[in-house]
Amino acid sequence: MKLIDVINKATSEGKAVGHFNISNLEAFNAIVKTAKKLNVPVIIGVSEGERDFVGVENAVALVESARKGGAEIFLNADHTYSYVRSVEVIDAGYDAVIIDYASKNKEESIEVTKRVVEYAKSKGPHGALGNPGTPPILVEGELGYIGQSSKVLDALPEGVLIDPNSLTQPAEAKDFVEKTGVDLLAPAVGNVHGIIKGGNPALNIERIKEIKQACSVPLVLHGASGITDEELHLAVLAGISVVHYNTELRVAYKDALIKSLEEHKNEVAPYKYLKTAEDAVAEVVEKKLRIMNDL
Ligand SMILES: [Zn+2]
Repeated sequence: MKLIDVINKATSEGKAVGHFNISNLEAFNAIVKTAKKLNVPVIIGVSEGERDFVGVENAVALVESARKGGAEIFLNADHTYSYVRSVEVIDAGYDAVIIDYASKNKEESIEVTKRVVEYAKSKGPHGALGNPGTPPILVEGELGYIGQSSKVLDALPEGVLIDPNSLTQPAEAKDFVEKTGVDLLAPAVGNVHGIIKGGNPALNIERIKEIKQACSVPLVLHGASGITDEELHLAVLAGISVVHYNTELRVAYKDALIKSLEEHKNEVAPYKYLKTAEDAVAEVVEKKLRIMNDL
C-alpha cells in the first residue's frame, strides 16, 4: 500500500500511524522489529540533522531493506527548512517530506510550501509529469509554531504560545491547505517539540476536531513526547492521523546506554553494550503503537 492509503485506512478505523525519528541503527532496528511484531505500519523520520548523521541515501537503503524483510515501513524527511533540502530528499526516493516554514511569515511559508508540492508532484503519478511506478511523494506543511528541538526543556520554547488564539485556526488551516496543495498538515494544537520538565501543556482536543472538519487532508501531531496516553488516545479519536515521537525515544536510549556502560565498564563490543539501549527504544515504541492502533 502507498503511504497515503495507509494513513487514510488508519484514519477511517479511528487509528493513527506512528512516526518515530532515528539517529542510528539501534533505534531503526528497534522500530522495525516492533512494527513487525505488532503487524502495524510505521514511518521512520529523519530531520535534517538526523539525516546528515545517518546519511540521506543510507536512510533510503535501510527502509528499502526492511520492506524486503516484510515490514510495512515508510521514510519521511522530517522538518526540512529549505526548498533545496526538500528537493534533495524527493530525488533520493523518500516517501514524504515536511517543508517547515512555520516560523516564517505566512506569505513566504505558502510560497515555498507550494513550490515543494509542485516539485514533488512533478516526480510522482499524482502529478501530471509522474513516472509510472513511482510512489507519490507526500508533502506535509506546518502551520503554527511549536518549537524546533526534540530535547528535555526547562520551560515552553520561546515563541510557542498555547492560548486558543495563538493555536492554528481552522479557517487559516483550510486556506493554507488550499493555497499550497499539501497532502498532510501539521497544526499547532497545544503540542510542543520536546519534553517539558514539570509537564507538557494539554492538547486542545476541540481545536483538533475543528481543524479536521475544516481541512480535507490528514492531520499530523508533532511533539507527542510528554503528552499523556489518554491525550494521545483522544487526539487520535479527534482526527489525528500520524503521531510523531522523538524525544521520548532519545531519552530512553540515552538513559539505557549510560546504565549499560556503567554496568559493563570493560565491555568494548558495541553490539553488546548497545543492546539494552535498543530494547529501551523498542519498549517506548511498542507502548505508543499499541495506543495508536488500539491493540
Ligand atoms: Zn516535529
